[in-house]
Amino acid sequence: MVRFDYHTHSNYSDGYFIPGMVRAAEAAGLEGIGFADHCNVTAEGDARRRLDGLGFALDETYERRRQGIEWARTETEIEIFDAVEMDYVPGREADIAEFLEAAGFDYAVGSVHSVDGADVQWSENFVGLDDDGRRAVVDGYYDNLAALADSELFDIAAHADLIERTPELRGYSTVEHYEQAAAAFADSDTVPEINAGRVLDDYGEFHPAPDLLTTLLDHGVEFTVGSDAHHPEEVGRRIDALERHFDDHGIEPATLDV
Ligand SMILES: [Zn+2]
Ligand SMILES: [Zn+2]
Repeated sequence: MVRFDYHTHSNYSDGYFIPGMVRAAEAAGLEGIGFADHCNVTAEGDARRRLDGLGFALDETYERRRQGIEWARTETEIEIFDAVEMDYVPGREADIAEFLEAAGFDYAVGSVHSVDGADVQWSENFVGLDDDGRRAVVDGYYDNLAALADSELFDIAAHADLIERTPELRGYSTVEHYEQAAAAFADSDTVPEINAGRVLDDYGEFHPAPDLLTTLLDHGVEFTVGSDAHHPEEVGRRIDALERHFDDHGIEPATLDV
């Protein structure tokens, strides 16, 4: 049974106002909702200016959001978690650890959103690449994902096969990649999530997709629930889909000790 949605967004990144998201979580029958807004402590120069311009800057606004969460807690019976979706960049573990330690979130979700600085969700980054080039990006993606698990920086690993969302990178994942990811998570305290970000959308699959999911399950890996909802209308529909998905596989969602 799905009790906690650990991965949603508020208007402190690219999502909706906190109270509306909380009402939607109540209506979906959840016992708790976690706000994991986008945060990056490693971007520099143009990349940093772009994030600041878009408002993806929880590293600068988390204290203000915390006040909003505290206020929202007085208006509901369900739990509201003060969390973060942090970009993981290999080699920058010390900077990430220092920030997480100082900020003191309820928990941290770690995400690989880029390979060598290229955002893996932007088709334009990959349309010009041939097969070998795309394969190299996907290799790099799984290396980063395994390094994220090895780093033990995060409680949850977001959308394990995010690259599958991007048509130019879809279909390049191999059995070796799945085994690499499964070995890393089987050996880590970081729990991957089942992420519903695109299951009712153009892509139509959960993350992880069936073959990776099966490999992870074979290695005894558990999963938290992440609707990755950015709007109240997405919460209930995605929680229903997640509920069915966990039931279909005969598994219970993992809960965090928060
Ligand atoms: Zn993400
Ligand atoms: Zn997200």
